[in-house]
Amino acid sequence: MIVAMLETASEEQIQNVTDHLMHMGFAVHRTTGARQSVLAAVGKRIDFDIRDLEVLPGVEKVHRISAPYKLVGRQFHPHDSVIKLGKGVSVGGPQVIVMAGPCSVESREQLFKAAEQVARAGAKVLRGGAFKPRSSPYTFQGLGLEGLKLLREAADAHGLLVISEVMEISQIDLMMPYVDIFQVGARNMQNFNLLRELGKVRKPVLMKRGIAATIEEMLLSAEYIMSGGNYDVILCERGIRTFETYTRNTLDISAIPIVHKLSHLPITSDPSHGTGLRDKVAPMACASLAAGADALIIEVHPDPDHALSDGAQSLYPEQFAELMEKLRLIAPAVGRTIG
Ligand code: PEP
Ligand code: MN
Repeated sequence: MIVAMLETASEEQIQNVTDHLMHMGFAVHRTTGARQSVLAAVGKRIDFDIRDLEVLPGVEKVHRISAPYKLVGRQFHPHDSVIKLGKGVSVGGPQVIVMAGPCSVESREQLFKAAEQVARAGAKVLRGGAFKPRSSPYTFQGLGLEGLKLLREAADAHGLLVISEVMEISQIDLMMPYVDIFQVGARNMQNFNLLRELGKVRKPVLMKRGIAATIEEMLLSAEYIMSGGNYDVILCERGIRTFETYTRNTLDISAIPIVHKLSHLPITSDPSHGTGLRDKVAPMACASLAAGADALIIEVHPDPDHALSDGAQSLYPEQFAELMEKLRLIAPAVGRTIG
């Protein structure tokens, strides 16, 4: 950490800041310039709040150099993490994995159709919510356990893996026999109790970026899961809330290369929730692949016009098959293949 003192700072104030830093466990190196003094604090501590120094008399600016997380950072693990999902499928390597399916599991017929259609087009993972975090309590809330059973059955019938959202701690054990990947939804990215419990689980977790979360907050949330002992964490950019009204959310594609620079964890892109509109999904999926996404999660419904949730952003099965063709063309240009 670098602490720049004001030109007007007194020797006493500089000493006071130095004492504070030393008390926090840092070694302090002072550089005295012609006008200003700068204190460089070196140490292993990461659990500090720079505002505690910013408010001290005589301080002009404090700049944090080390990241506030350990396990998710590249310093801890310099190479890309490759996470095994099951059935010989991994994410984080050269193969880009496509997860697809409806927003919610609605019925046996709907899900089996969706599984058949996405598997035929080349998806590796079947998505579908059994527990749904809906903005309104009066809308469809999901089929619960029945939905989980259908997911497992439909996925197995088509050689797919299952991803489904876990909304609370009590659902973890219930979901365990049915899912291959636990999905943490955007609304739960900072449900730290849930994250801690998922740290004890021995199954991959795909954690979505919160609706108004910074990239650093997303990485700190992933740190909660990893610090519990579960290193199989996949991040997911799913769009953030901005002032733009043409789309449901703003898909922050720049988060993909930023995460790759800061972290070894794979990152997924969700262009369905990222845009909220069917015709924007394919272009943003292509852009995400080009930007380095390790996986894509896409909503596909056999009959989107009658979907119980997120119909407007769900692709028709033919559109999904077309998109997969496009992705297969783009992938080699960025050194990837489509799984
Ligand atoms: C979903 O995947 O259907 C979902 C609810 O996503 P998010 O948490 O990103 O809103
Ligand atoms: Mn959805």
